[in-house]
Amino acid sequence: MLGLGWQELLIVLILVTPIVGVILAAKRGKIVSVAAGVGVLQGLANIGFALFGGPLGFLPQDQSEAAIVAALMLVQGPAMIVSAVATYRQKLWGAYLLVTIAVVADLMLLVERAKSGWLIPLLVTLLYVLAVRSLRRAREAPKAPPLTCPECSAPYHPVDYRSDLPAIYCSACKAPLPRNEAV
Ligand SMILES: [Zn+2]
Repeated sequence: MLGLGWQELLIVLILVTPIVGVILAAKRGKIVSVAAGVGVLQGLANIGFALFGGPLGFLPQDQSEAAIVAALMLVQGPAMIVSAVATYRQKLWGAYLLVTIAVVADLMLLVERAKSGWLIPLLVTLLYVLAVRSLRRAREAPKAPPLTCPECSAPYHPVDYRSDLPAIYCSACKAPLPRNEAV
């Protein structure tokens, strides 16, 4: 990491976080939280780059062009943070807005023929798309009728229990409950 400025470190962080995050998220079904976290990070990065200058080659050399890009990033940054927070709160519009902003930013990178690479924005955009898909699925899945405890017949929803717990128990009588995941 020697010789890297904070801007480069931030970019490395934005690159590494989605990869690690997607692996963890895929295991735990937490893709929405990861996308929201990356969204906040990307929003902060945009504001930081706009105010203090990006890494070498990130902002155009031309002064007036650089000023336009910086102004756009100042709008994009807060918009991403707002969208990320909404995404974290399971709001579908937040995730859609993240994808839209990311795609627009990707297109602008294409136009600018950015030297800072295409892999990072592509990965981040993919992450936001996965978050939209996850939120849509959660919304579309009809809430199944409750199952009943085999011991005391208290109703329960398997989805109300954390999926990473080895076993789940009845809240009324503490008897072990079947998850019936294979519906
Ligand atoms: Zn029970």
